[in-house]
Amino acid sequence: MEYNDSLDFAKRMDAEDPLRAYRDRFYFPQHNGKDVLYFCGNSLGLQPKGVQEILIEELEHWRQHAVEGHFRGDRPWMYYHKFLRPQSARLVGAKEDEVVVMNTLTTNLHLLMVSFYRPTPQRYKIIMEAGAFPSDQYAMETQVKWHGFDPAEAIVEVAPRAGEETLRSEDIIETIKKHGEQTAVVMFGGVNYYTGQFFDLAAISKAAHDVGAYAGFDLAHAAGNLPLKLHDWEVDFACWCSYKYLNSGPGGPSGIFVHERHGNNPDLPRFGGWWGHDEERRFLMEKGFHPMKGAAGWQLSNAQILAMAPHLVSLNMFDEVGMDALREKSLKLTGYMEFLLRKMNEKEQRFRILTPTDPAQRGCQLSIAAGEDGKRLFEHLTANGVIADWREPEVIRVAPVPLYNSFEDVWQFANLLRQ
Ligand SMILES: *Cc1c(COP(=O)(O)O)cnc(C)c1O
Repeated sequence: MEYNDSLDFAKRMDAEDPLRAYRDRFYFPQHNGKDVLYFCGNSLGLQPKGVQEILIEELEHWRQHAVEGHFRGDRPWMYYHKFLRPQSARLVGAKEDEVVVMNTLTTNLHLLMVSFYRPTPQRYKIIMEAGAFPSDQYAMETQVKWHGFDPAEAIVEVAPRAGEETLRSEDIIETIKKHGEQTAVVMFGGVNYYTGQFFDLAAISKAAHDVGAYAGFDLAHAAGNLPLKLHDWEVDFACWCSYKYLNSGPGGPSGIFVHERHGNNPDLPRFGGWWGHDEERRFLMEKGFHPMKGAAGWQLSNAQILAMAPHLVSLNMFDEVGMDALREKSLKLTGYMEFLLRKMNEKEQRFRILTPTDPAQRGCQLSIAAGEDGKRLFEHLTANGVIADWREPEVIRVAPVPLYNSFEDVWQFANLLRQ
């Protein structure tokens, strides 16, 4: 792609963008009477315009039908999780039975570890990326302790080489091989929240299987950001949240994936609840837990309608656009931001980009290490209507989101940064 740094170029790219109309389907916060430059979709996605309507519909449904709402109308609450399944499956490259939406992300990570981390004195290690999102670190640490192992020994972190910012696939694979027979689970973030690095999930999954371990991924920063093929990559389990790239609102529900080879094994240990119980017999209220086939068999509770309704609106939009079309735009949009940033660095090195240069190893986010003046720079951007994200000690994370960000947004951002 040939970029240039004129505003005309950005405007032309927007005019030619087949997804440009989607921007109008979101609410942007305002700054001095104008839309902010919103680059924080990696943290909390914007509100889709259909959310208020669906919430009012569900409130009406409740008001009019009360308990009968479970069985009436176009979206009976009883089956709500099913209305999210086909779109979720396409979003992450799964079969419908392999996914379900339930609970929230960290809760689901624990529930999946209950099934997939069953350490023995011989095989008890968890391999993960160094600098994983803190909630994932705490989840792994407490899982290990709960089973009576020592995190210092049981958790193996793969770190960047000296002088490097991101991980090499070969180092990840080597670490898995090295701890092979002691490894129970390889658990990585799909995209690292800090550097924006997208890991080679297929290669990690294969390496884990080669040593007899399970491969699981936290896709909080990958779902809705990159096309995924969880089924084909033979990933054992995965979970993601819906409020970052998936724009489903603060604290929104989480999706899980369990590969069919496990989902169809009722003997796989798990924590049970009535919503995971055979739905034909759910209301017989009898003794004895019989999990449903597929990921649905990990559900505990009945659907959180008021959280799932916005997610339904958002998932339908992703389904309509398709991850391939989003990725096509995303490659151009983030490539454009990278081009403009590099241009500013031409004369003298003002900042570093931590995110890999190889587009195959990143989604839309770029992490800019802005050095000593980073915080001041960030504050200047904020004062001028940019919403980005600051991570101590020196990193500004910006995510040009292909669904609602424009090339002109990126140009305006770069222009402010240059100033
Ligand atoms: C955002 C994020 C979380 C947050 O977890 P919640 O349970 O939804 O609060 C966890 N892990 C990763 C990798 C994240 O990016």
